[in-house]
Amino acid sequence: MKILSNIWNGFLNVFGIRKNSKYVKNYLNEANMKSGIFMSFVIFVLEIWLVIRQMNKYVIPKISGGMNGFEALFKYTSLYFVMMFFGAAMFMYSLQYISKKKSMSKMIVPIVFAGLSIALCCLLPFEFSYKSIVLNPAIDAVTIQGILKLFFYAAVFLFDVGIIFSSIYRYRGGKRASLSSVMVISLFALVCLAFGVMVSYGDFISSKVYSDINLGVDSKGNDVIKDVIANDKSNKQIICFLMFTIYIGCLLIWNPLISIGILGILFLGFFFLLNHVADLGGRIVPEGDQVNYITFFISLAMVAVSIYNQRLSEAKKDEELEELATKDKLTGLMSFEYFILQVRDRIETYNIQKSDSVYLFINVTNFKVYNDQKGFEQGNEFLKTIGQIIAGVFNELSLVCRQSDDHFVVFAYNKNIVEKINEINEKIRALDQDIKPGIMVGAYEVYNPNDDPRYCVEKARYAYSALKHENNGSIILYYDEQMHDDYLMVQYVVSHIDEAIEKGYLKTYYQPVVWSKGRALCGAEALARWIDPKFGFLSPGKFIPALENARVVYKLDKEVLRLVCQDIRYNLDNGLPVLPVSINFSRADFGIIDIVDVVKSTVEQYNIPHELLHIEITESALTDDEDILKLTINRLHENGFATWLDDFGSGYSSFNVLKDYEFDVLKLDMKFLTGFSDNKKARSLIKSVINMADQIGMKTLCEGVETMEQAAFLEEASCGRLQGYLYGKPLSYQEIMDRIANGDFALSDDILIEKKKR
Ligand code: C2E
Ligand code: MG
Ligand code: MG
Repeated sequence: MKILSNIWNGFLNVFGIRKNSKYVKNYLNEANMKSGIFMSFVIFVLEIWLVIRQMNKYVIPKISGGMNGFEALFKYTSLYFVMMFFGAAMFMYSLQYISKKKSMSKMIVPIVFAGLSIALCCLLPFEFSYKSIVLNPAIDAVTIQGILKLFFYAAVFLFDVGIIFSSIYRYRGGKRASLSSVMVISLFALVCLAFGVMVSYGDFISSKVYSDINLGVDSKGNDVIKDVIANDKSNKQIICFLMFTIYIGCLLIWNPLISIGILGILFLGFFFLLNHVADLGGRIVPEGDQVNYITFFISLAMVAVSIYNQRLSEAKKDEELEELATKDKLTGLMSFEYFILQVRDRIETYNIQKSDSVYLFINVTNFKVYNDQKGFEQGNEFLKTIGQIIAGVFNELSLVCRQSDDHFVVFAYNKNIVEKINEINEKIRALDQDIKPGIMVGAYEVYNPNDDPRYCVEKARYAYSALKHENNGSIILYYDEQMHDDYLMVQYVVSHIDEAIEKGYLKTYYQPVVWSKGRALCGAEALARWIDPKFGFLSPGKFIPALENARVVYKLDKEVLRLVCQDIRYNLDNGLPVLPVSINFSRADFGIIDIVDVVKSTVEQYNIPHELLHIEITESALTDDEDILKLTINRLHENGFATWLDDFGSGYSSFNVLKDYEFDVLKLDMKFLTGFSDNKKARSLIKSVINMADQIGMKTLCEGVETMEQAAFLEEASCGRLQGYLYGKPLSYQEIMDRIANGDFALSDDILIEKKKR
């Protein structure tokens, strides 16, 4: 049974009876159209040559012999002109089909040729049918020849109408345009067939029929066939026969089974005709030749079947590749690359104008938590569902793709966007009541339809980043002018960081740090500033996040470290007071540079005592790769550098994480001091953090101290160090040195000792 079904399946495959996907159908169709280009071009050129030949051989001699010029032209060249226009119409049509862009001029040209061909077709059949059917009512070779000619002209006529219809239909974007082209190519093949049969048949019985029929007048004055002039074309039928089979070979490739069927019927019909008109001057095809012809037919059919199957497997392979390139494997949505192409196409096709459409960059919130808790597999399923939800809310006129991870991008008609986003958000929220996933969306309205879609998606993504940064509870933010300026600034900063370092635009400012007891100066924090020739003074908020996002902030951190070491070296060499300095390293540095190596080598280069440098690592880094972080901190300790935990309390890490790390100093974020004066809880909180730190052996520093009241409270609460505008804003090296020289700061003992030592 299995063998039988295998054989059956093989048969279905080989003869192309299986239903193919739309892609494969289009592929085969396009391949046929390409064959159509070559075939029709050959016909066109061949017919030009034949027209010239006919002119020399018949038209010119006949005109010199006194025949009317128009009549001679019509009589000896019109058939070739029909074929020439037919070839030209098909050639232009198939070119138009292959070309991706639709244009009026491309549509008109095949229509014009088809029109010319129709005009001639309408004139010619009269002549033939009149002579061979009306004047010769008996069913004989002459009549059959006439019928075959009529059949040929009818096929050409149908083909021309098909070309006109299909060109207009395609131009107007008809949904089944490819089907109309299948019709055209079938009619094209039909004309080829009809031509082949007509010519071959005529040639076979040419001694009686195909050559000129001379008319005469009978006794009643009616037209009659007076004479059929024989010529020497008989016996050459094999050439015509081969010609027409090769012509029809083109049809075989379209659909083997149907084509073989049509070809078979025509073959049989052809032999039948030949064998049954033998008494009219034709001859029965000798048996040996018949076997040869049938073998030829079978070989041709096999070649065509093999070409078809080769094309089919190419089409399928192509389809797979296309799927890979155009689809996102996980969600089944479009891939980002394909999305970009589609957007371009859409903008062009629908002539989209400013503000008509909008790009949305959608990020799934809490996806990381979901993935961590439920595992990778379920995370993937979750993304799939989200993809479906987004695609479901936006109609099919919108384009939806997954760009990467949990980021989706949409190109949609700019209407009811906020409602749609809310709908998606609610649906996603309902997927998990505990984790409460949701979305955050950056939107960018099409401003200039010629803008590169990637650039627009980037802006939507930028709006999303701004929204995330603002963190004000809303879930959608539109890109605006201010953001545009910020965007340009980001671009500028990232592309100019090397130049800024090289040309010394980057500076270190120092913010004083004092002991809370006695308020003597005990150190400083190094804070980066960018003094730009174009934009002037830039504070870190303008460039640090940009550099962090671009993962190049390590360049800045290395430079700040170098500048600090350089300043300390200068003070050491010149007997000036030397402040211990804390240096910020971004969380984005871990994994890109080896912080310990960088610090060690710079310090060695300037020969700086290790205890003069503290390394600040921000609290938010604790959520990153724990192993690297722990290792880095331990190695810093081993090398005699203190590590300070910056901005404690600004993020979401709990006290619990502190037990895992060896930080020396805990810097309380300035948020603790907001609302300090009228919020009793703030005071209790600060006290307990300080106590807790004390108990696990960490020293404390409070940032953002602005009032005497705060300072007094912190002193009482046993906070070790204070930093804030009350003691000084970040100052340039020169300013802070001047202020120390002026006696504005009392210097702590250790600084004085340090000074004495050198
Ligand atoms: P941070 O490390 O927490 O630095 C403290 C920030 O608080 C500084 O802002 C400082 O000027 C500001 N500040 C200090 N005292 C007060 C106060 O009493 N009131 C108020 N309102 N603000 C105060 P700045 O210099 O703008 O730096 C912002 C952030 O940029 C820094 O926060 C740090 O995270 C980052 N940053 C600065 N320089 C560097 C650097 O060289 N490398 C890295 N990776 N990050 C840096
Ligand atoms: Mg800091
Ligand atoms: Mg800080």
